[in-house]
Amino acid sequence: MTAPIDLRSDTVTRPTDAMRAVMAAAPVGDDQYGEDPSTNRLQARMAEMLGKEGALWLPTGTMANQVALRTLTRPGDEVVASRESHAAWHELGGAAANAGVQIHEIGQGGLFSVDELRAATKPRNFAIFPTTTLVEIENTHNRAGGVVVPQDLVLSICGVARELRLATFLDGARLWNASAASGVALDRLAAPFDLVAVAFSKGLGAPGGSLLAGSKALIADADRHRRRMGGAMRQNGIFSAAALHAIDHHLGRLPEDHANARLLAERLLAGAPVQLDLRTVQTNIVVFHLPVSMPLDAPRVCTLARERGVLVNAFGPRTIRAVTHLDVTQMQCASAADVLVALLSA
Ligand SMILES: *Cc1c(COP(=O)(O)O)cnc(C)c1O
Repeated sequence: MTAPIDLRSDTVTRPTDAMRAVMAAAPVGDDQYGEDPSTNRLQARMAEMLGKEGALWLPTGTMANQVALRTLTRPGDEVVASRESHAAWHELGGAAANAGVQIHEIGQGGLFSVDELRAATKPRNFAIFPTTTLVEIENTHNRAGGVVVPQDLVLSICGVARELRLATFLDGARLWNASAASGVALDRLAAPFDLVAVAFSKGLGAPGGSLLAGSKALIADADRHRRRMGGAMRQNGIFSAAALHAIDHHLGRLPEDHANARLLAERLLAGAPVQLDLRTVQTNIVVFHLPVSMPLDAPRVCTLARERGVLVNAFGPRTIRAVTHLDVTQMQCASAADVLVALLSA
Protein backbone atom coordinates (compact mmCIF):
# COMPACT_ATOMS: atom_id res chain seq x y z
CA MET A 1 0.00 0.00 0.00
CA THR A 2 1.26 3.51 -0.80
CA ALA A 3 1.82 5.97 2.04
CA PRO A 4 -1.33 7.82 3.07
CA ILE A 5 -1.91 11.45 2.10
CA ASP A 6 -1.53 12.99 5.52
CA LEU A 7 -3.56 16.20 5.93
CA ARG A 8 -4.03 15.92 9.70
CA SER A 9 -1.64 18.78 10.36
CA ASP A 10 1.32 20.72 8.99
CA THR A 11 3.28 19.26 11.92
CA VAL A 12 3.55 15.84 10.24
CA THR A 13 6.31 16.90 7.82
CA ARG A 14 9.67 15.15 8.02
CA PRO A 15 12.97 17.02 7.69
CA THR A 16 14.31 16.96 4.15
CA ASP A 17 17.73 15.44 3.40
CA ALA A 18 19.15 18.96 3.08
CA MET A 19 17.71 19.91 6.48
CA ARG A 20 19.13 16.77 8.07
CA ALA A 21 22.53 17.61 6.59
CA VAL A 22 22.65 21.08 8.14
CA MET A 23 21.41 19.63 11.44
CA ALA A 24 24.21 17.07 11.43
CA ALA A 25 26.80 19.74 10.69
CA ALA A 26 25.42 22.40 13.07
CA PRO A 27 27.90 24.06 15.45
CA VAL A 28 26.53 23.53 18.97
CA GLY A 29 27.27 24.40 22.59
CA ASP A 30 25.46 24.50 25.91
CA ASP A 31 22.53 26.84 25.36
CA GLN A 32 21.95 27.27 29.10
CA TYR A 33 25.34 28.98 29.18
CA GLY A 34 24.34 30.99 26.12
CA GLU A 35 27.02 29.10 24.20
CA ASP A 36 25.07 27.48 21.40
CA PRO A 37 26.17 29.40 18.28
CA SER A 38 23.34 28.11 16.08
CA THR A 39 20.66 29.04 18.63
CA ASN A 40 22.26 32.45 19.16
CA ARG A 41 22.26 32.98 15.41
CA LEU A 42 18.61 31.93 15.09
CA GLN A 43 17.50 34.12 17.99
CA ALA A 44 19.34 37.16 16.60
CA ARG A 45 17.98 36.58 13.12
CA MET A 46 14.40 36.13 14.34
CA ALA A 47 14.58 39.19 16.60
CA GLU A 48 15.55 41.17 13.52
CA MET A 49 12.90 39.59 11.25
CA LEU A 50 10.20 40.22 13.84
CA GLY A 51 11.47 43.70 14.65
CA LYS A 52 12.02 43.02 18.37
CA GLU A 53 14.98 43.55 20.72
CA GLY A 54 15.28 39.92 21.69
CA ALA A 55 14.13 36.38 20.96
CA LEU A 56 14.11 33.12 22.89
CA TRP A 57 13.98 29.55 21.62
CA LEU A 58 11.28 27.28 23.07
CA PRO A 59 10.79 23.57 22.49
CA THR A 60 7.10 23.84 21.50
CA GLY A 61 4.44 26.39 20.62
CA THR A 62 2.47 25.26 23.63
CA MET A 63 5.35 26.14 25.93
CA ALA A 64 5.83 29.45 24.11
CA ASN A 65 2.21 30.29 24.87
CA GLN A 66 2.51 29.12 28.48
CA VAL A 67 5.67 31.14 29.04
CA ALA A 68 4.13 34.21 27.37
CA LEU A 69 1.02 34.04 29.57
CA ARG A 70 3.16 33.54 32.66
CA THR A 71 5.42 36.45 31.71
CA LEU A 72 2.63 38.92 30.96
CA THR A 73 0.12 38.12 33.74
CA ARG A 74 -0.17 37.23 37.41
CA PRO A 75 -2.12 34.29 38.87
CA GLY A 76 -5.81 35.18 39.19
CA ASP A 77 -5.77 37.48 36.16
CA GLU A 78 -8.01 37.14 33.16
CA VAL A 79 -6.86 36.92 29.55
CA VAL A 80 -9.11 37.95 26.67
CA ALA A 81 -8.66 35.84 23.53
CA SER A 82 -10.50 34.87 20.38
CA ARG A 83 -13.03 32.06 20.64
CA GLU A 84 -11.48 28.60 20.27
CA SER A 85 -7.95 29.93 20.48
CA HIS A 86 -5.18 27.36 20.81
CA ALA A 87 -4.33 28.49 24.35
CA ALA A 88 -7.93 27.86 25.44
CA TRP A 89 -8.63 24.64 23.52
CA HIS A 90 -5.44 22.74 22.80
CA GLU A 91 -3.18 23.14 25.83
CA LEU A 92 -4.85 20.95 28.45
CA GLY A 93 -5.80 23.89 30.61
CA GLY A 94 -2.14 24.95 30.79
CA ALA A 95 -3.13 28.62 31.06
CA ALA A 96 -4.80 27.80 34.37
CA ALA A 97 -2.30 25.16 35.51
CA ASN A 98 0.89 27.07 34.66
CA ALA A 99 0.04 30.77 34.65
CA GLY A 100 -2.98 30.59 36.98
CA VAL A 101 -5.12 32.64 34.60
CA GLN A 102 -8.55 32.14 33.10
CA ILE A 103 -9.26 32.80 29.44
CA HIS A 104 -12.30 34.75 28.34
CA GLU A 105 -13.08 33.77 24.73
CA ILE A 106 -14.79 36.40 22.59
CA GLY A 107 -15.81 37.10 18.99
CA GLN A 108 -16.29 34.62 16.21
CA GLY A 109 -14.47 33.15 13.24
CA GLY A 110 -11.10 33.78 14.89
CA LEU A 111 -11.72 37.54 15.10
CA PHE A 112 -13.17 39.95 17.65
CA SER A 113 -13.98 43.65 17.58
CA VAL A 114 -12.65 46.44 19.78
CA ASP A 115 -16.17 46.79 21.21
CA GLU A 116 -16.13 43.13 22.21
CA LEU A 117 -12.70 43.66 23.80
CA ARG A 118 -13.97 46.68 25.76
CA ALA A 119 -17.07 44.77 26.89
CA ALA A 120 -14.97 41.79 28.01
CA THR A 121 -12.38 43.84 29.90
CA LYS A 122 -13.41 43.91 33.56
CA PRO A 123 -13.09 47.18 35.49
CA ARG A 124 -9.94 47.22 37.64
CA ASN A 125 -10.05 47.14 41.44
CA PHE A 126 -13.68 46.04 41.51
CA ALA A 127 -14.31 43.84 44.55
CA ILE A 128 -15.38 40.67 42.80
CA PHE A 129 -13.82 40.83 39.32
CA PRO A 130 -10.63 39.16 38.13
CA THR A 131 -8.26 41.73 36.66
CA THR A 132 -8.06 41.64 32.87
CA THR A 133 -4.37 42.16 32.10
CA LEU A 134 -3.74 40.63 28.69
CA VAL A 135 -5.28 40.36 25.25
CA GLU A 136 -4.16 37.59 22.91
CA ILE A 137 -4.60 37.39 19.14
CA GLU A 138 -4.04 34.18 17.18
CA ASN A 139 -2.84 34.82 13.61
CA THR A 140 -3.50 32.78 11.56
CA HIS A 141 -6.38 31.33 13.54
CA ASN A 142 -6.23 27.56 13.56
CA ARG A 143 -9.72 26.41 14.55
CA ALA A 144 -11.37 29.17 12.51
CA GLY A 145 -9.80 27.63 9.39
CA GLY A 146 -6.47 29.42 9.10
CA VAL A 147 -7.98 32.88 8.69
CA VAL A 148 -5.67 35.88 8.69
CA VAL A 149 -6.51 38.59 11.22
CA PRO A 150 -6.70 41.83 9.21
CA GLN A 151 -3.85 44.13 10.22
CA ASP A 152 -6.08 47.19 10.64
CA LEU A 153 -8.12 45.18 13.17
CA VAL A 154 -4.90 44.12 14.95
CA LEU A 155 -3.80 47.75 15.15
CA SER A 156 -7.11 48.95 16.59
CA ILE A 157 -7.28 46.08 19.13
CA CYS A 158 -3.73 46.74 20.32
CA GLY A 159 -4.47 50.48 20.46
CA VAL A 160 -7.46 49.89 22.72
CA ALA A 161 -5.38 47.42 24.76
CA ARG A 162 -2.83 50.15 25.47
CA GLU A 163 -5.59 52.54 26.45
CA LEU A 164 -7.02 49.88 28.83
CA ARG A 165 -3.51 49.06 30.14
CA LEU A 166 -3.61 45.49 28.84
CA ALA A 167 -0.50 43.68 27.68
CA THR A 168 -0.64 42.18 24.18
CA PHE A 169 0.40 38.74 22.95
CA LEU A 170 0.40 37.34 19.43
CA ASP A 171 0.16 33.57 19.05
CA GLY A 172 1.75 33.52 15.64
CA ALA A 173 2.48 29.82 15.33
CA ARG A 174 1.49 30.33 11.69
CA LEU A 175 2.47 34.00 11.36
CA TRP A 176 4.51 33.03 8.27
CA ASN A 177 1.28 31.98 6.58
CA ALA A 178 -0.43 35.22 7.61
CA SER A 179 2.45 37.19 6.10
CA ALA A 180 2.51 35.14 2.88
CA ALA A 181 -1.26 35.48 2.43
CA SER A 182 -1.57 39.18 3.27
CA GLY A 183 1.72 40.46 1.91
CA VAL A 184 2.31 42.27 5.22
CA ALA A 185 5.90 41.85 6.44
CA LEU A 186 6.55 39.83 9.61
CA ASP A 187 7.91 42.79 11.56
CA ARG A 188 4.80 44.83 10.78
CA LEU A 189 2.55 41.96 11.88
CA ALA A 190 4.55 41.69 15.11
CA ALA A 191 5.02 45.41 15.81
CA PRO A 192 1.84 46.10 17.85
CA PHE A 193 2.54 43.29 20.37
CA ASP A 194 4.57 43.01 23.58
CA LEU A 195 5.38 39.34 22.94
CA VAL A 196 5.11 37.32 19.74
CA ALA A 197 5.29 33.53 19.35
CA VAL A 198 6.22 31.80 16.09
CA ALA A 199 6.64 28.07 15.32
CA PHE A 200 9.20 26.32 13.12
CA SER A 201 7.50 22.93 13.32
CA LYS A 202 4.37 23.77 11.33
CA GLY A 203 4.42 25.03 7.75
CA LEU A 204 8.17 25.61 7.81
CA GLY A 205 8.79 21.89 8.17
CA ALA A 206 11.39 21.82 10.96
CA PRO A 207 11.23 18.87 13.38
CA GLY A 208 10.61 21.07 16.39
CA GLY A 209 10.84 24.44 18.01
CA SER A 210 9.10 27.73 18.57
CA LEU A 211 10.32 31.13 19.63
CA LEU A 212 9.17 34.18 21.56
CA ALA A 213 10.23 37.69 20.56
CA GLY A 214 9.86 40.92 22.50
CA SER A 215 11.71 43.57 24.48
CA LYS A 216 14.99 42.69 26.23
CA ALA A 217 13.28 42.91 29.63
CA LEU A 218 10.37 40.63 28.70
CA ILE A 219 12.66 38.10 27.03
CA ALA A 220 14.80 38.00 30.20
CA ASP A 221 11.65 37.22 32.23
CA ALA A 222 10.52 34.65 29.68
CA ASP A 223 13.94 32.99 29.92
CA ARG A 224 13.46 32.45 33.67
CA HIS A 225 9.96 31.04 33.17
CA ARG A 226 11.21 28.77 30.40
CA ARG A 227 13.79 27.27 32.73
CA ARG A 228 11.24 26.92 35.53
CA MET A 229 8.92 25.02 33.19
CA GLY A 230 11.74 22.70 32.19
CA GLY A 231 12.14 24.06 28.69
CA ALA A 232 15.78 25.21 28.78
CA MET A 233 17.83 22.94 26.53
CA ARG A 234 21.53 22.19 25.98
CA GLN A 235 22.98 21.45 22.49
CA ASN A 236 19.91 22.94 20.90
CA GLY A 237 21.79 24.03 17.77
CA ILE A 238 20.70 20.86 16.01
CA PHE A 239 17.14 22.19 16.14
CA SER A 240 18.14 25.79 15.50
CA ALA A 241 20.02 24.79 12.36
CA ALA A 242 16.84 23.15 11.07
CA ALA A 243 14.87 26.32 11.81
CA LEU A 244 17.45 28.51 10.03
CA HIS A 245 17.35 26.17 7.04
CA ALA A 246 13.55 26.32 7.04
CA ILE A 247 13.59 30.12 7.02
CA ASP A 248 15.99 30.11 4.07
CA HIS A 249 14.33 27.37 2.02
CA HIS A 250 10.73 26.80 3.06
CA LEU A 251 9.33 30.23 3.86
CA GLY A 252 9.08 31.23 0.21
CA ARG A 253 7.05 28.18 -0.80
CA LEU A 254 4.09 28.71 1.57
CA PRO A 255 1.91 30.14 -1.24
CA GLU A 256 1.97 26.61 -2.76
CA ASP A 257 0.37 25.25 0.41
CA HIS A 258 -2.23 28.01 0.28
CA ALA A 259 -3.06 27.22 -3.36
CA ASN A 260 -3.35 23.52 -2.51
CA ALA A 261 -5.75 24.24 0.36
CA ARG A 262 -7.82 26.36 -1.99
CA LEU A 263 -7.90 23.57 -4.56
CA LEU A 264 -8.97 21.05 -1.92
CA ALA A 265 -11.69 23.36 -0.61
CA GLU A 266 -13.07 24.21 -4.05
CA ARG A 267 -13.24 20.54 -5.06
CA LEU A 268 -14.92 19.58 -1.81
CA LEU A 269 -17.48 22.33 -2.10
CA ALA A 270 -18.20 21.55 -5.75
CA GLY A 271 -18.65 17.82 -5.16
CA ALA A 272 -19.97 17.21 -1.67
CA PRO A 273 -22.80 18.65 0.44
CA VAL A 274 -20.46 20.10 3.07
CA GLN A 275 -20.68 23.45 4.80
CA LEU A 276 -17.54 25.35 3.91
CA ASP A 277 -17.09 29.09 3.70
CA LEU A 278 -14.49 29.63 0.99
CA ARG A 279 -13.74 33.06 2.42
CA THR A 280 -12.13 31.34 5.42
CA VAL A 281 -9.71 29.43 3.17
CA GLN A 282 -6.99 32.06 3.14
CA THR A 283 -3.95 29.98 4.04
CA ASN A 284 -3.11 26.26 4.44
CA ILE A 285 -6.09 25.10 6.54
CA VAL A 286 -9.50 23.88 5.42
CA VAL A 287 -12.14 23.50 8.13
CA PHE A 288 -15.53 22.22 6.99
CA HIS A 289 -18.72 20.97 8.60
CA LEU A 290 -21.03 18.06 7.89
CA PRO A 291 -24.69 19.10 7.69
CA VAL A 292 -26.98 17.47 10.28
CA SER A 293 -28.81 15.74 7.44
CA MET A 294 -25.69 13.69 6.68
CA PRO A 295 -25.70 10.26 8.34
CA LEU A 296 -21.89 10.27 8.75
CA ASP A 297 -20.29 12.20 11.60
CA ALA A 298 -16.75 13.58 11.63
CA PRO A 299 -14.98 10.70 13.45
CA ARG A 300 -16.62 8.21 11.05
CA VAL A 301 -15.52 10.23 8.01
CA CYS A 302 -11.96 10.26 9.36
CA THR A 303 -12.02 6.47 9.78
CA LEU A 304 -13.42 5.86 6.30
CA ALA A 305 -10.99 8.33 4.74
CA ARG A 306 -8.09 6.60 6.50
CA GLU A 307 -9.16 3.27 4.98
CA ARG A 308 -8.92 5.01 1.60
CA GLY A 309 -5.46 6.46 2.25
CA VAL A 310 -6.38 10.00 3.35
CA LEU A 311 -5.77 11.29 6.87
CA VAL A 312 -7.78 14.23 8.22
CA ASN A 313 -8.74 15.28 11.76
CA ALA A 314 -12.14 15.50 13.44
CA PHE A 315 -12.26 18.92 15.12
CA GLY A 316 -15.73 18.42 16.52
CA PRO A 317 -18.65 16.02 16.17
CA ARG A 318 -19.40 17.39 12.69
CA THR A 319 -16.28 19.41 11.96
CA ILE A 320 -13.23 18.25 10.01
CA ARG A 321 -9.87 19.91 9.44
CA ALA A 322 -7.44 19.30 6.59
CA VAL A 323 -4.05 21.04 6.48
CA THR A 324 -1.69 21.31 3.52
CA HIS A 325 2.10 21.37 3.92
CA LEU A 326 5.40 20.74 2.16
CA ASP A 327 5.04 16.95 2.25
CA VAL A 328 1.86 16.91 0.11
CA THR A 329 1.80 17.78 -3.57
CA GLN A 330 -0.91 19.49 -5.56
CA MET A 331 -1.80 16.12 -7.11
CA GLN A 332 -2.12 14.49 -3.70
CA CYS A 333 -4.41 17.29 -2.52
CA ALA A 334 -6.58 16.79 -5.60
CA SER A 335 -6.72 13.02 -4.96
CA ALA A 336 -7.54 13.59 -1.30
CA ALA A 337 -10.40 15.87 -2.32
CA ASP A 338 -11.70 13.20 -4.71
CA VAL A 339 -11.60 10.57 -1.93
CA LEU A 340 -13.49 12.87 0.46
CA VAL A 341 -16.04 13.85 -2.18
CA ALA A 342 -16.73 10.19 -3.04
CA LEU A 343 -17.18 9.44 0.67
CA LEU A 344 -19.35 12.41 1.50
CA SER A 345 -21.62 12.32 -1.52
CA ALA A 346 -22.20 8.55 -1.38
C1 LIG B 1 0.23 24.26 16.97
C2 LIG B 1 -0.11 25.53 17.62
C3 LIG B 1 0.45 25.87 18.85
C4 LIG B 1 1.29 24.91 19.66
O1 LIG B 1 2.40 24.41 19.04
P1 LIG B 1 3.03 22.99 19.50
O2 LIG B 1 4.42 23.10 19.01
O3 LIG B 1 2.22 21.95 18.81
O4 LIG B 1 2.95 22.89 20.98
C5 LIG B 1 0.13 27.10 19.38
N1 LIG B 1 -0.68 27.95 18.73
C6 LIG B 1 -1.25 27.65 17.56
C7 LIG B 1 -2.13 28.65 16.89
C8 LIG B 1 -0.99 26.43 16.95
O5 LIG B 1 -1.58 26.12 15.80
